[in-house]
Amino acid sequence: MSDVGARPRRRSLAVAVGKVQVGGGAPIVVQSMTNTDTADVEATSRQVAELWRAGSEIVRITVNNPESAAAVPRIRERLDMMNVPVPLVGDFHYNGDRLLAAEPACAEALAKYRINPGNVGFGKKKDSQFAAIVEKAIEYGKPVRIGVNWGSLDQALAARLMDENAARAEPWDAARVLREALVVSAIESAGRAVEIGLPRDRIVLSAKVSGVQELIAVYRDLAARCDWPLHLGLTEAGMGSKGIVASSAALAVLLQEGIGDTIRISLTPEPGAPRTLEVVVAQELLQTMGLRAFTPLVTACPGCGRTTSEFFQVLAKKVQEHVRAQMPVWKLKYPGVENLSLAVMGCVVNGPGESRHADIGISLPGTGEAPAAPVFIDGQKAMTLRGEGIAEEFMAVIDDYVARRWGRSAA
Ligand code: SF4
Repeated sequence: MSDVGARPRRRSLAVAVGKVQVGGGAPIVVQSMTNTDTADVEATSRQVAELWRAGSEIVRITVNNPESAAAVPRIRERLDMMNVPVPLVGDFHYNGDRLLAAEPACAEALAKYRINPGNVGFGKKKDSQFAAIVEKAIEYGKPVRIGVNWGSLDQALAARLMDENAARAEPWDAARVLREALVVSAIESAGRAVEIGLPRDRIVLSAKVSGVQELIAVYRDLAARCDWPLHLGLTEAGMGSKGIVASSAALAVLLQEGIGDTIRISLTPEPGAPRTLEVVVAQELLQTMGLRAFTPLVTACPGCGRTTSEFFQVLAKKVQEHVRAQMPVWKLKYPGVENLSLAVMGCVVNGPGESRHADIGISLPGTGEAPAAPVFIDGQKAMTLRGEGIAEEFMAVIDDYVARRWGRSAA
């Protein structure tokens, strides 16, 4: 038995979100969120489909006004016509009770409702608006995510905990009280939903913050104090590499500890960048940690002064893009192909060794080496490629290997 790997997953209730199971030992679910105007049925359906094709297993959409609530059933219909069965989650803030009451078809079309206890209504209205959404979830047989966020923390609860803290013999620091408020808000809200009549196995919890260390601390607490499945995500993670690194750092620690049943990477897209990047990052995080496999990943060396040209980077990129592009067909034709491992290496120093560890690897010639690229298959040198067509020939080797290895198992 290997002595490396994540701790066993924390035990949690199983919650059905449409046909996708979250928690209860199910594989960690990748989800994402659109950034289109939900009232724009065409644009939102298109982006949901893109996210689903990229691998998002649940997609959340904003439902913030009557127009967007009216659009939801039309989006569902359009997705069904496009053979995109992904469950849709409605993200409600401030007016979810009224929107769900006014648009029964929206309440029916959604697979889950997200409630933010910090802005579901204020003062006396808070309890009744929260109850109204939970009652809709009961009526339509839907689960809810009680999603706390420190940008919209329940202020009455925060004030109560501050008062309690002031009465302590040794008061906690303000950051700890804030973390406690997030955890208590999530757990007390879930308890209220159960009192209203929502079955316990229809609740998912999240408590998002934007700091890595705070997120880890909050989720460790939450995980220890309840058995509801947990949706992990670093809120407002940011743009580009900062968002990817911060999200990965926070989520990796928790996932390694067995905490987390579904994840979302909240990236701010760079102008013109595809929304699907957040799905790719989520998948690659789970896959590189050995928690799930989605798409064959390419191991590549970073290159150095021994790499003679850009050809090595170009080939690594082409191979990764090729396998990603093939996956929609491969995953149907060749079950198990997501476990394929590939290596593209820049010279003889680590090239043959790393290539032998992969199912298929290629060691390109570095500075001073003969212009030949040995290819290794299942740890054995299988051939040597030369000349202009190395990229195409290597891709053909991959395609042939996939068909031989996984085509047989599919038959
Ligand atoms: S394998 Fe060769 S080219 Fe790649 S980083 Fe190592 S020494 Fe440099």
